[in-house]
Amino acid sequence: MDKDIVATVNGLLKTPKNIVIVGHKNPDGDAVGSCLGLSFFLKQRGHKAQVVMPNDFPNFLKWIPGWEDILHFDKKESAVREAIHAAEIIFTLDFNDLDRTGNLSEVLKNAKAPFVMIDHHLQPSDYAVATYSDTSMSSTAQMVFHFIEALNGVDEISPEIATQLYVGIMTDTGSFRFPATTATTHRVIASLIEKGAENSKIHENVYDTNSEDRMKLLGIALNNLRVFPEYRTAFISLSQKELDNNNFKKGDTEGFVNYALSLSGVIFALIFIENKQEGITKISLRSRGSFSVNEFAREHFNGGGHANAAGGRSEMSLLKTIQHFISILPPYKNALNHDA
Ligand code: 5GP
Ligand code: MN
Repeated sequence: MDKDIVATVNGLLKTPKNIVIVGHKNPDGDAVGSCLGLSFFLKQRGHKAQVVMPNDFPNFLKWIPGWEDILHFDKKESAVREAIHAAEIIFTLDFNDLDRTGNLSEVLKNAKAPFVMIDHHLQPSDYAVATYSDTSMSSTAQMVFHFIEALNGVDEISPEIATQLYVGIMTDTGSFRFPATTATTHRVIASLIEKGAENSKIHENVYDTNSEDRMKLLGIALNNLRVFPEYRTAFISLSQKELDNNNFKKGDTEGFVNYALSLSGVIFALIFIENKQEGITKISLRSRGSFSVNEFAREHFNGGGHANAAGGRSEMSLLKTIQHFISILPPYKNALNHDA
């Protein structure tokens, strides 16, 4: 972490402060884990810290220490407005632009408190007095560990903080297998285990709590698989009807896109998920190697993320979105076969 950022943060945290920590819309394991980890650390140092999210997160995260104290803007709007109004510092974690917080972005844009950003996504926006951005990092949770390190706080990491940060790193690295997983990531993980993170239990809590509905939905998704070998591309899709018929709950489709990417020869994979309530089709994009899904999602689907993992949306129906996607593939033929 840059010395200037450490100095700015140390200045801000010199006296006990009223702090709000914000994660992105549709929070994932990294958003929840990194926000909670930072909040527990700051509270131990005598600050007040409230974690705020735009909306709810999946059930497989609803065991992490502190999860019940998170305020959701779509459920507790006035409490969130009050917290942000009263905040003396606002930390934003695991996103690169205030628009990633959905409806909450208007409240944040009008906030008076200085922002501190901790994030690993590409193209960070410039709204914070301290921007700790590192796009080479495995996860925001790993960055929170380095942040704590820079504040000489590693000895203060409790078993709860170790657990929260472990969840963030584990989920964002696909259990330590994605390319951003470095030797340093493993050193951080080793340190978290020493501090009391129960690695095997955490994996079980997150990955071995599948419902029958989710498994059946996976079967349907895989049945909808389409492969385009000439583009080394594969996608799966789920319609609103298929989701409804299988009692879809938030988080049920997490990780499905990786099955498409696991096909031999495929380097570009997507999942299209219809959301009639919001009138959109949500898209998750993944790639292997140099093909940037961040660029693709920015260009075509009003989204972004990382080079190998991004998200976006389309205002069209599921069918129209898929037709559109197939129609825009041809110009990418060379790029997709580039490092074949
Ligand atoms: P997922 O496909 O798992 O929802 O997201 C993959 C990555 O892309 C995550 O790092 C996530 O933060 C980012 N992402 C997902 N949806 C969007 C979006 O609509 N816009 C942007 N800019 N990033 C997104
Ligand atoms: Mn992340």
